[in-house]
Amino acid sequence: MHSIEKKYFKSVIPKVSGIIKKDFNLASLTWFKVGGKAEIFFIPKNKEDLINFLKKIDKDAPLKILGAGSNILVRDGGIRGVTISLVKSFSNISYLNNQKVYVGAGVNCIKLSRESASKSLEGLEFLSGIPGTVGGAIKMNAGAYGYETSDVLEKIVTVDRYGEIKEYDKEDLKMSYRKNSLNKNQIIIQALFKCKKGKKYIIQNNIKEFKKRREETQPIKLKTSGSTFKNPIQIKAWKLIKQSGCSNLKKGGAEVSSLHSNFLVNQGVAKAKDVEDLGKLIISKVKKKFGIKLNWEIKIIGTKNKYRKYFND
Ligand SMILES: Cc1cc2nc3c(=O)[nH]c(=O)nc-3n(C[C@H](O)[C@H](O)[C@H](O)COP(=O)(O)OP(=O)(O)OC[C@H]3O[C@@H](n4cnc5c(N)ncnc54)[C@H](O)[C@@H]3O)c2cc1C
Repeated sequence: MHSIEKKYFKSVIPKVSGIIKKDFNLASLTWFKVGGKAEIFFIPKNKEDLINFLKKIDKDAPLKILGAGSNILVRDGGIRGVTISLVKSFSNISYLNNQKVYVGAGVNCIKLSRESASKSLEGLEFLSGIPGTVGGAIKMNAGAYGYETSDVLEKIVTVDRYGEIKEYDKEDLKMSYRKNSLNKNQIIIQALFKCKKGKKYIIQNNIKEFKKRREETQPIKLKTSGSTFKNPIQIKAWKLIKQSGCSNLKKGGAEVSSLHSNFLVNQGVAKAKDVEDLGKLIISKVKKKFGIKLNWEIKIIGTKNKYRKYFND
């Protein structure tokens, strides 16, 4: 293809029924409240709109999925290409027979957990303190207090970047600690969870207990993304961070939480760079002290300097 034609071809953003925003500020959509803009921010109206968009968009266009932004650090230069959000439109919850729950990927985990509890469904209590979406929880295999998303998940439905729908059983996903085998271009749109029938007051009491424990040990009301690093095998990341003398570390407007050493907090004026630099400093200090390399649990996306445009205006 001639280079001018190719450039023109790349500039086409398909017509959609949902919302397209250009150069859209993402900071308010992430828990850290830092970071740059999305070149194209797309909120599909529904499944058909998403599929149509994916079928028509240039197959080289970079694509990113943003859930509730509770495990993501968007760099200051923003995100080239398209960032897709399912939060508004994939928000259905259906309670099926046999204690199964069919949920849209944009549903908030806290809402799902509380609503299922009110229907005496047991199994989703651990999600009551995880402020992400169902899609994010599956992608991350989010977990707390000894439970993981994979414990209750049965199936998912995805759309790939060609707009093809696929279904996966949990076993296909090879889920382990904060991990699964889905590739980065698979967008989770629906999930099926298997709960058990329980006693409402016990389920709701468990949720209260989890909430209390969390409030005592985590800075959940601050601008943070939860645990920054994965726990290495048989040792907690927060212990390594604390024992490496990182408890009071700061970089610009970012600092290590005084309540939980594995949480980094934006004190209000941080740049994404401050958070990333602080994380890197922690990694080097822990490595020096213990010889253990911490791995990021939070996903760092985007570019340090303003993204190079993919689409023409
Ligand atoms: C106060 C606080 C407490 C937390 N506590 C916990 C905890 O106890 N346990 C825990 O595991 N985590 C915890 N987290 C981290 C976070 O809430 C989870 O990782 C959550 O599952 C992320 O979901 P999200 O929708 O915010 O995803 P995002 O942060 O928006 O994205 C995370 C990753 O998932 C991908 N993704 C999101 N949606 C989809 C989709 N539909 N299809 C494909 N990929 C998708 C993104 O592309 C990205 O790679 C906490 C965070 C905070 C701020």
